[in-house]
Amino acid sequence: MVLAELGGSISRALQRMNNAPTIDEKVLGELINEIARALLQADVDFKVVADMRSNIKKIVNLDDLAAGHNKRKIIQQAVFNELCKMLDAGKPSYTPKKGKPSVTMFVGLQGSCICWVQCSGKTTTCTKYAHYYQKKGWKPALVCADTFRAGAFDQLKQNATKAKIPFYGSYMESDPVKIALEGVERFKEENCDLIIVDTSGRHKQEAALFEEMRQVYEATKPDLVIFVMDSSIGQAAFNQAQAFKQSVSVGAVIVTKMDGHAKGGGALSAVAATKSPIIFIGTGEHMDEFEVFDVKPFVSRLLG
Ligand code: GDP
Repeated sequence: MVLAELGGSISRALQRMNNAPTIDEKVLGELINEIARALLQADVDFKVVADMRSNIKKIVNLDDLAAGHNKRKIIQQAVFNELCKMLDAGKPSYTPKKGKPSVTMFVGLQGSCICWVQCSGKTTTCTKYAHYYQKKGWKPALVCADTFRAGAFDQLKQNATKAKIPFYGSYMESDPVKIALEGVERFKEENCDLIIVDTSGRHKQEAALFEEMRQVYEATKPDLVIFVMDSSIGQAAFNQAQAFKQSVSVGAVIVTKMDGHAKGGGALSAVAATKSPIIFIGTGEHMDEFEVFDVKPFVSRLLG
C-alpha cells in the first residue's frame, strides 16, 4: 500500500542522514526537504507539512547541541514525534460508557458517482463499530437517518441483521430528523447503551445537505460525532474535514480502506483539520476488519 511507501521514503531519508559522516545544517536541511517531499507526495496538506518543517527546525538546533550529543538520535526522535503529532489530536475523544445510553452520529462524504471508491465506507463502518462494542458485551443499535441515498436503509438493515444488531429506519419517511429522533428514542427506551445514527454522505459544497446534517445533530444531541473518511481521498481531505467540523462538532475520525492503495496523507490532514483523534481504522470489507487506532505503534510500523 502507498502508505507504506510514505514510511519507506521517510525511513530512507533517515538512513541517508545516519550514513552522513557529520551532521550539519546541510544534512539536516536535506533530510527535512526529503521528508516534506514524501509527505506532499502522500497528499498531506501543505500547511501541515510546513508546520512539521518549522517544528523540526525549532527542536533540533544544531548550534545548541554540544559535540557529545547524539545528533542523529535527537533528529530521529524529532521526526518520529512530528509524525505522531500529525496523527495525534492532543486530546482523547469522548468514550461511551457501558450501560449508560449514549448517541454516536456518523458523518462523512458521499461520492458524486455511484462508484464505491468515492464513498467513505460510512454505513459499513457504523456496523463495524456496533459489532466491535457488541463483542465486548454492549447493547448497540443502529438508526438509518440516510434518506437521501436510495438503498441506504436496505444496506444498513442487511449489515445489522447479519451482525444481529437492532436497527431502525423507514422506506417511506423522507425526513431524516424525524427518523433519527424516533430511532434514538426507541432505543433509549429499550435500554441500548450505544445508539448509532448513520446520516447521508455529503460534500461541503452541498449547503442544504449540510444544514440537514446540522438539524439531525441538534435534534439527537449526540455525545460523539465521528467523521468517516476513505483513506484514499487525498488532498481534498483537509477542506472537507474542516467543513464538517465547522457544521457539527466532530469529535473523532475513523479512516477506512487502509487496506487499499491509499496514500495515507489524507488521514494526517483530517486530524489536523478536525483537531480530533483517529479512533479506529477500517482494514477490509468484513465486519471484523476494524482496528483500534494507536498513534505510536502506527508510526513505528509506518517507518518499519
Ligand atoms: P457509504 O456510502 O459511505 O456509506 O459507504 P459504504 O459503507 O456503502 O461502503 C462502500 C464500499 O466500501 C462497500 O463496498 C464496503 O464494503 C467498502 N468498504 C468499507 N470499508 C472498507 C474498508 O475498510 N476496506 C475495504 N477494502 N472496503 C471497505
